[in-house]
Amino acid sequence: MTETLAFTQEPHASPVAVADRQAQLANPGFGRVFTDHMALVHYSEAEGWHDAKITPRVEFRVDPACAVLHYAQEIFEGLKAYRTPDGGAQLFRADANARRFRQSARRLAMAELPEGIFLDSIRQLVRTDRDWIPDSPDGALYLRPFMIASETFLGVKPSSEYLYIVIASSVGAYFKGGAPAVTLWVSENYTRAAPGGTGDAKCGGNYAASLAAQSEAIKQGCDQVVFLDAVERKWIEELGGMNIFFVFDDGTLQTPPLTGTILPGVTRDSILTLGRAQGLTVREELYSFDQWKADAASGRLVESFACGTAAVITPIGTVKHSGGEFTIGSGGPGQLTGALRKTLVDIQRGVTPDPHGWTEKLF
Ligand SMILES: *Cc1c(COP(=O)(O)O)cnc(C)c1O
Repeated sequence: MTETLAFTQEPHASPVAVADRQAQLANPGFGRVFTDHMALVHYSEAEGWHDAKITPRVEFRVDPACAVLHYAQEIFEGLKAYRTPDGGAQLFRADANARRFRQSARRLAMAELPEGIFLDSIRQLVRTDRDWIPDSPDGALYLRPFMIASETFLGVKPSSEYLYIVIASSVGAYFKGGAPAVTLWVSENYTRAAPGGTGDAKCGGNYAASLAAQSEAIKQGCDQVVFLDAVERKWIEELGGMNIFFVFDDGTLQTPPLTGTILPGVTRDSILTLGRAQGLTVREELYSFDQWKADAASGRLVESFACGTAAVITPIGTVKHSGGEFTIGSGGPGQLTGALRKTLVDIQRGVTPDPHGWTEKLF
């Protein structure tokens, strides 16, 4: 699908003042600072995709019977625009996000947005709000494309109308204080996704279902929850919003395979490619919680890390479960974890050449 639409530009009449914007960019945190504009495209069965625009970011009205409010027909994406050393900006693998957005739409029985429209919406919004891209080493402009079922109708069926929107948020590090290593809680009471479910679609419903488990993790003094598979309650799947990797003492890198219950992360895929390019042995294989615990104790497992666009690559230091806890390696950032992170981040930010053709310079 290469269908495209011309985006109308509706500049903000009173954008945030320069001094105010700079104050907000000084310490943005994650997901609290928003830019002046958003992208908006409508879909209806009768008209298809239409009325594409870059417009001031304002509240919008929905009818109380709007379908998404009742049956959660909603999908989203997450990607970043990075400030490059020459003061420009670039995207990282936005085409992969465009493709995944269509796959998520198909699973949620929503209209599929042509990839060309997805990419143009991102490019144009970043160019319009370019002054909101932080230049700090951890900072980026986090882009949040999403789509909601917008038909006013309480019957249970796929909506006949959709709204596609992109908002942008200036962000710093995802974990407070940059988190040298995070602590995970192994959920035994809850699972994230079952075979045949929506685990490999990026939809809000998966997150809603993960929050009780995440609250349990926080109550246990942990940063994040890690889920086991729903059938055997044995195999490690992923975190609430991040994929997971294991590093062994012989230098091999392992991550759970994409069996349909795991979100196919762009960061995950990039790390697999970088690992192979470096000559590492890379495995996509099931790994059980019991084996993880045993391997951490024996020293066969030396590092573990979580990965995703928001958190990049974050070392896992300690794992807590109902029967106790164990520490991985030194409990701090591991060597290969740090090296992979640097390789990835340097490509994303245009600090080193991009041999994989992953980046797109915007200006
Ligand atoms: C978005 C997401 C990830 C990470 O995907 P990236 O494309 O690397 O950002 C991992 N797990 C879940 C559940 C997600 O929603």
